[in-house]
Parts: sequence; structure tokens; C-alpha cells
Amino acid sequence: MTEYVFPAPPVPAVRVSGSGARYPVSRIFCVGRNYAAHAREMGFDPDREPPFYFTKPANALVESGATVAYPPATANYHYEMELVIAIGRPAFRVAPEEALEAVWGYACGLDMTRRDLQIKAREMGRPWDLGKGFEDSAVIGELVPASAIGHPSKGLIQLSVNGAVKQSSDLSALIWSVPEVVAHLSQFYHLGPGDLIYTGTPEGVGPVVAGDRLEGRIDGVGTIALAVGPAAPGSIE
Ligand code: MN
Repeated sequence: MTEYVFPAPPVPAVRVSGSGARYPVSRIFCVGRNYAAHAREMGFDPDREPPFYFTKPANALVESGATVAYPPATANYHYEMELVIAIGRPAFRVAPEEALEAVWGYACGLDMTRRDLQIKAREMGRPWDLGKGFEDSAVIGELVPASAIGHPSKGLIQLSVNGAVKQSSDLSALIWSVPEVVAHLSQFYHLGPGDLIYTGTPEGVGPVVAGDRLEGRIDGVGTIALAVGPAAPGSIE
């Protein structure tokens, strides 16, 4: 047994549908601007430029159904409803035709964003970490194995806030499909079991405030829910 100088943090892990076992998470990759209409609403021209990525720490994961505090140091806390890919086998420099063999399953995800900090960083040419990689920023629903549902390439992706639909698109609108994203990302990383990939959000992103309830779904994949609580005392809001 390794002796640690303090108790080792727990392994971040995700519930698996129909199983008591959990999927242990090592890394969280996220794709930027992967739906044309969302790229446009963020002020960019969508095209087939190669996808780009940012990451979140694995301990930013929050399970569906949680209530999270309104995060510190932001006045523009946004939702981004996304399909999440869970990798189950090593994949390095794979072609799109073989990329799906590495996919263990899928989940609904919310890439929660401090939009004001992200945009400020973008404008200054600085990293997005403060806007994207903060605590509780990677919300995830139950994982469903690809062995049960296959590999979704189309289907409604939707997000409601307090019962009003805010985002509504279809997985077929992804600029870079699931196999294309896995294949492209595998050119840069030795992907492996425990790696999650948030695949990007469709149009309709917007702010939430304390008291709001978010509910998302992807047809054929599952659902996700999140409640926003008050900011911790002393936070800037
Ligand atoms: Mn996103």
C-alpha cells in the first residue's frame, strides 16, 4: 500500500445505467464550436476547420440531480447541453472507420461555463481555464454502454430551464461526428479507458441564476438534471 501524506482524493466516477458499477474518470476533453448555429451565435463562421479542444479537471464532475452553488467570480453562468463520449479502449492515431471500437458508451452532459471569464480570456488570447475548468463545471448523467444503445449519430438534443426549452437541435447537426472527434483527438493523445469527451453544444446557450432548474435529454441516450443554488457567501455575483 502506498502511504500518502494525506488521504488520497476519491476517484471521480460516473454512474452506469443498469449497473451498480461505476466508470472511473481520468480526463475530460471538450470540443469547442461543434454545431454551426452555435458557432454563429458566438460570433464565428462555422466551417470544417479542424476541431479544437479544452479540458476540465476530472474532479469538476457533478452527477445529474445535484444542486450546485452559483460559482464564484462570474455574473454570466451559462449552460451548454452536450453529448458525452466515454472511451473504453486505447486509441492512438486511429482512423474514423475504427474509432468507434474505442467508445465504451455515452451520456448527457452539461459543460457549465463562466461565459464572462471565457470571453475575456478569448479576447486577450489567454487560456480558457477560468471560464471552463472550474469546480462543479462538468455535469454528467448516467452512462449507457454502446453495447446497449449502439453509437448515436442522430436524435434530438434538448435543454430546458424551468420548463422552457432553450436548446433544441439534433446530433446529426454535429460538424465533427463522434468517430471523427475520437479519431482527430487520438492524433494528439493516447486516449484510453476513463477519458470523457464533451462533444460541443448546439445553439441557444444562455445564463442561469440561483433557483433555476435545468433538464436535458438526448433521444436514445438519456437525461440530465441540475439545480442552481445560491452563491457561497463572499462570492462576486
Ligand atoms: Mn461546450
